[in-house]
Amino acid sequence: MYKQQLIEKLGKENVSQSESERYRHSHDESPHEAVEPDVVCFPTSREDVEVILEIARTYNIPVTPFGTGSGLEGQAIPVQKGISINFENMNAIIDFSPEDMTITVQPGVTRMQLNKYTNRHGLMFPIDPGADASIGGMVATNASGTTAVRYGAMKDQLLDVEVVLADGRVIHTGTHAKKSSSGYHLTSLFAGSEGTLGIITEITLKLHGIPEKTIMARCTFDSTENCAIAAQTLLLSGIPMMRMELMDAASIAEVNLQNGYDFPIKHSLFLEFAGTEGAVTEEVALAEELLNDLGCENWTVADNPTEQKEIWKARHDLSLSFVHTSGLDEVGADVCVPISRLPELITYARQLIGESGLKGGIWGHIGDGNFHTIVMFNSKMEGEREKAEYTNEALAKRAIEVGGTCTGEHGVGLGKRKYQEQEHGVALDVMKSIKQLFDPQGILNPGKIFLP
Ligand SMILES: Cc1cc2nc3c(=O)[nH]c(=O)nc-3n(C[C@H](O)[C@H](O)[C@H](O)COP(=O)(O)OP(=O)(O)OC[C@H]3O[C@@H](n4cnc5c(N)ncnc54)[C@H](O)[C@@H]3O)c2cc1C
Repeated sequence: MYKQQLIEKLGKENVSQSESERYRHSHDESPHEAVEPDVVCFPTSREDVEVILEIARTYNIPVTPFGTGSGLEGQAIPVQKGISINFENMNAIIDFSPEDMTITVQPGVTRMQLNKYTNRHGLMFPIDPGADASIGGMVATNASGTTAVRYGAMKDQLLDVEVVLADGRVIHTGTHAKKSSSGYHLTSLFAGSEGTLGIITEITLKLHGIPEKTIMARCTFDSTENCAIAAQTLLLSGIPMMRMELMDAASIAEVNLQNGYDFPIKHSLFLEFAGTEGAVTEEVALAEELLNDLGCENWTVADNPTEQKEIWKARHDLSLSFVHTSGLDEVGADVCVPISRLPELITYARQLIGESGLKGGIWGHIGDGNFHTIVMFNSKMEGEREKAEYTNEALAKRAIEVGGTCTGEHGVGLGKRKYQEQEHGVALDVMKSIKQLFDPQGILNPGKIFLP
């Protein structure tokens, strides 16, 4: 009945029950179990989204938004089936104001599409999760990436989001002003809400000027702890780093294997400096001097933009490299801790991977205190999955104990629900009350963030 109404209101070309579309919307990039929706809708406007929610409300049908399905915690999996909403037909640039350095887009615009559009005006959108994710999905997971050390996460780029609420109201959470102290900060509430509070139909973002000059530098240390100490030293020095990434020796070996590089197979920092030519040259020299004092080796600079782009691509594809070279399944952690606790957490992560007896690596956005582990396992070998999952669990709990979070950027979805109580305590009850207020019927992406 409700499917017929969806077809009548949205047009049959925008509603699919085909096996291939239901399969495409049953999973994301996480190892969580796939669940097919009953029907997939492709809205072309906010009004279409309003119609979908009205029908969902009337028939009490779960609704799960789907961006590009690149999520790593099962957020887009419709665990209670129902309607999956795909935003690929809502991918228009609505308003671009280069003089204000802002842009308003529909949620299906991807980050690469956005940069292609803005780069020719000397502007960029810096948030770069490894995948070419949708802006809607990136807001909903509060995504970040290698440039967070300078620009922060998605929540820091948002001026306004338009949201269709479960009860049918349409709200704007902000304005086009660069800052505001007016009322509760609803914009931030929707950053990281994973489709559980409302459906985002329009986003106004801050843009940034493209720096005149970029230089990349690589160097190695004899321990991952020393990499963390080096990162801390650079931050304290006040050098405005653009990127600051750790890759342990095991990860460097994967990058070499997958991309044909011969980087020294040692614990490494990949750094990027960006600004005016003169400033960047001075910053690179100062960084080299500071890191030499800490025992850094193999300091190598890449000045050429093409070479830099290739190296960063190899870094972005790192987790896929582990999967491709081993042919195994993976679990990955995404903890984030105060930078002073980073050395001990990385040591603990290495110890856990060693004790598991499984292949694994450590890398991450070390400048934010955010790092990832990957542990490869053979699902056909008894006990391997459990061992791999134990490393994740122990690391997440330790991160929370030292004042950090179980997820710096990938989000809660299904996999990190079990840590929410430890991390948030009584605040978790407040979050549940907020969910109840926004979605009393429980139809918006049910099963995510909170354990049943
Ligand atoms: C190789 C690789 C590397 C990655 N690296 C990073 C990284 O460095 N940093 C990082 O943060 N992430 C990273 N990710 C994870 C992923 O890219 C991000 O979580 C991304 O933000 C997901 O966007 P998406 O469009 O694919 O959303 P999806 O995965 O499709 O959905 C994610 C969530 O957003 C919700 N959603 C989507 N659209 C809307 C909407 N319009 N309204 C309301 N809710 C909506 C969905 O319901 C779901 O809860 C990586 C993923 C891969 C595969």
